Amino acid sequence: MFDKLSDRLGGVFDRLRGRGALNEADVREAMREVRVALLEADVALPVVREFVDKATEKAVGQSVLKSVTPGQQVVKIVNDALVEMLGAEQSDLNLAVAPPAIIMMVGLQGSGKTTTTAKIAKMLKAKQGKKVLMASLDVNRPAAQEQLATLGTQTEVATLPIVQGQQPVDIAKRAMQAAKLQGFDVLLLDTAGRLHVDQQLMDEMQAVAKVSAPQEILLVVDSLTGQDAVNVAKNFGERVDLTGIVLTRMDGDARGGAALSMRAITGKPIKFAGVGEKLDALEAFNPERVAGRILG
Ligand code: GDP
Repeated sequence: MFDKLSDRLGGVFDRLRGRGALNEADVREAMREVRVALLEADVALPVVREFVDKATEKAVGQSVLKSVTPGQQVVKIVNDALVEMLGAEQSDLNLAVAPPAIIMMVGLQGSGKTTTTAKIAKMLKAKQGKKVLMASLDVNRPAAQEQLATLGTQTEVATLPIVQGQQPVDIAKRAMQAAKLQGFDVLLLDTAGRLHVDQQLMDEMQAVAKVSAPQEILLVVDSLTGQDAVNVAKNFGERVDLTGIVLTRMDGDARGGAALSMRAITGKPIKFAGVGEKLDALEAFNPERVAGRILG
């Protein structure tokens, strides 16, 4: 469906062969193609603008390398700039505190929050040998707490016993006490989601963050929601101190534009990518791979 950006740029730069440096007019013409590629990848417009300006600045005046075509050279410059903007640094979870380290999961309903909670728990247990406790604070959606308990059974990760009628802040307190008394290394709090950002959700989330003082507050966002994802991130970020983002359904996201927008607009690192429904379908976020997808 999409032309490869490198092919498109090839045409723009054909006539440039043999010249010494990438000049501004040619680079600007090439950047028009880059702009289209980013918009097709569903990157938010302000982010596209910022990115194109940065990449133009980097490209103009660079000497044309003998080994590659000017088109390939610009693709490399753009690719490197994308990787940089996506966050080249690996961002591990901050668990270096007196146990239990607390990870609070937030996001809209249907974003994949509960599944991701179980995926992270499974990963910490299997790869780092951590003793993990999960607790669902979702008292609004019927069966949400049971859903997490089922995932706990599947992943062989402990879940906090359900006490009917208890409110989220009290469940959080009970979970913290249980984790401390029973020697858990990590406590994952799966908070309630709603279909839309609303006042009650935000108030409740803030109250839980205040009482639990988590080391990590991870926002779970569906990468397929594209530009809406950015508004969600802004809204959540205004109310709690997010430490990172998990992008789910990266297995279905053809172009990866949400990742670039989220990173640029929130300034928060993308820590993980969900790549399927299975409970081991969670990867450390890989900026190179996503840059490759965006460029097509
Ligand atoms: P929540 O309402 O945010 O807690 O969402 P759930 O965790 O219940 O997930 C909603 C649906 O999305 C479930 O069917 C999950 O299996 C699915 N899901 C979650 N993460 C991913 C992912 O990375 N890829 C795919 N393909 N599906 C996912």
